Amino acid sequence: MTDARTGWAEVADRVYQRRYDPYDVSVTVVAGADGLMVVDTRCSLAEARELRGHLRQISAAPVRWVVNTHDHFDHVWGNAEFAAPRQTPPARFFGSAEMVAAMRGADDDPDMVTLKKALAAESEDWRAKLAELEQHVPENIVQGGHDLDLGDGRVVRMRQVGRGHTGGDLVLHVPDADVLLMGDLLEESGDPCFGPDSFPLDWAATLDAALALAGPATRFVPGHGASTDASFVTSQRDALAAVAATCRSLHAAGVPLDEALKTGDWPYDREHLEHAIKRAYLHLSA
Ligand SMILES: [Zn+2]
Repeated sequence: MTDARTGWAEVADRVYQRRYDPYDVSVTVVAGADGLMVVDTRCSLAEARELRGHLRQISAAPVRWVVNTHDHFDHVWGNAEFAAPRQTPPARFFGSAEMVAAMRGADDDPDMVTLKKALAAESEDWRAKLAELEQHVPENIVQGGHDLDLGDGRVVRMRQVGRGHTGGDLVLHVPDADVLLMGDLLEESGDPCFGPDSFPLDWAATLDAALALAGPATRFVPGHGASTDASFVTSQRDALAAVAATCRSLHAAGVPLDEALKTGDWPYDREHLEHAIKRAYLHLSA
């Protein structure tokens, strides 16, 4: 239940989620005896400063760890708020090798250039946020998995269970609270987002691997939307499997890429599937 006064929802024992505009992006906090772990940091330094204030509604403990579920801007552009010189001692940052590589390459990525132009064109607010943008790339690289003790035996298991929304999605499992933080591998308030860096053919199996970590009562926190349960994850898994199967059969039948979108029978809005088909065709042709 979301606390109407603070906006935080304690989705599991001492695990707090807050949903932020723009993009209804999740920030999740895991409170440990030694401090707070913040998972994803919103879209800008200004938003992360506001987040820091909101953290005081949960606890006065310091932010000791920051984990990024993946490299997309709405999850990482607030990072520098928790690094030196804005925070001393700084938090320790964690991300997958793939997400770190993507962040390091962001300045040369044509999709990033396009994105920044589009955001700048949106509003004065965005232009101000972009002007103070400072990337902070995680210095602790997770390859496959890493376990972190937050004190008093509370362990957070970071796991790469497969590719899907990106090539470097990280899932966080807090076994004592029976909760999985899914990043954008799971979306509850909108359709799953297939971008130009997605892996549509892998995504369903990745959700299967996440479900294998879960028990019957496990809560799942999506990158966008309200926390949910295994049956929701399973239905999203089935829809993602249907997207992959349709891409495979269209590709096998020789349907050209520019006809596939209007030809196929899709579980999601067609306007959200352009990159899914492009990426699937690319991977099937490789
Ligand atoms: Zn994303």
